[in-house]
Amino acid sequence: MAHHWGYGKHNGPEHWYKDFPIAKGQRQSPVDIDTKAAIHDPALKALCPTYEQAVSQRVINNGHSFNVEFDDSQDNAVLKGGPLTGTYRLIQFHFHWGSSDGQGSEHTVDKKKYAAELHLVHWNTKYGDFGKAVQQPDGLAVLGIFLKIGDARPGLQKVLDALDSIKTKGKSADFTNFDPRGLLPESLDYWTYPGSLTTPPLLECVTWIVLKEPISVSSEQMLKFRRLNFNKEGEPEELMVDNWRPAQPLHNRQINASFK
Ligand SMILES: [Zn+2]
Repeated sequence: MAHHWGYGKHNGPEHWYKDFPIAKGQRQSPVDIDTKAAIHDPALKALCPTYEQAVSQRVINNGHSFNVEFDDSQDNAVLKGGPLTGTYRLIQFHFHWGSSDGQGSEHTVDKKKYAAELHLVHWNTKYGDFGKAVQQPDGLAVLGIFLKIGDARPGLQKVLDALDSIKTKGKSADFTNFDPRGLLPESLDYWTYPGSLTTPPLLECVTWIVLKEPISVSSEQMLKFRRLNFNKEGEPEELMVDNWRPAQPLHNRQINASFK
């Protein structure tokens, strides 16, 4: 690869297909959620995140976003129910956000963009590890939660305060005792559809579960995301903003809703 993929003009989402031809595949993500076209499926079960025993370990700037990583060597924090069969273990969460409050989410709802989108990434334990799971059409379950500008979210502050120590690509810091339950909205009503990773390698391994109810974030909190850098320490500063992939064609897919 001449240069690594990113979100810039010359290496952004429009160019990813050159190194990752699946970028033009039939089950790519994100997508626009057309709420009128989504079909309520009464057979869908309630979503069941069990995060009480989550063991957060570290936060790392990977040059595209930052990941809060969890100990996934046991069933500490799992997602079950909803459209899922079996148990999916939480491995990490990260966000996508904009250069301004008017954009930043990857999924859109009736074309509306939110300020940011949280992705809680889980892998199907029947495949043994994350690396094996991403090779399978039902390998991952990603819980997507929109962030909407409003009151500050207290459950987010500990994450934002950690960002000062991981400003540039490759930096990481200990990040223990974080409770991801503080990032969930009241309602777990969701839309679900089969899709992909939204960053290279764009593998079509994800059952997407996108919550209808956003969580709030203040404009001041959003500024903290935008102080991160895409670049490594000592390189020219490129602010980490607009690290979202735009909506991809739905093709022959249907979005189901857990609610009427
Ligand atoms: Zn993501």
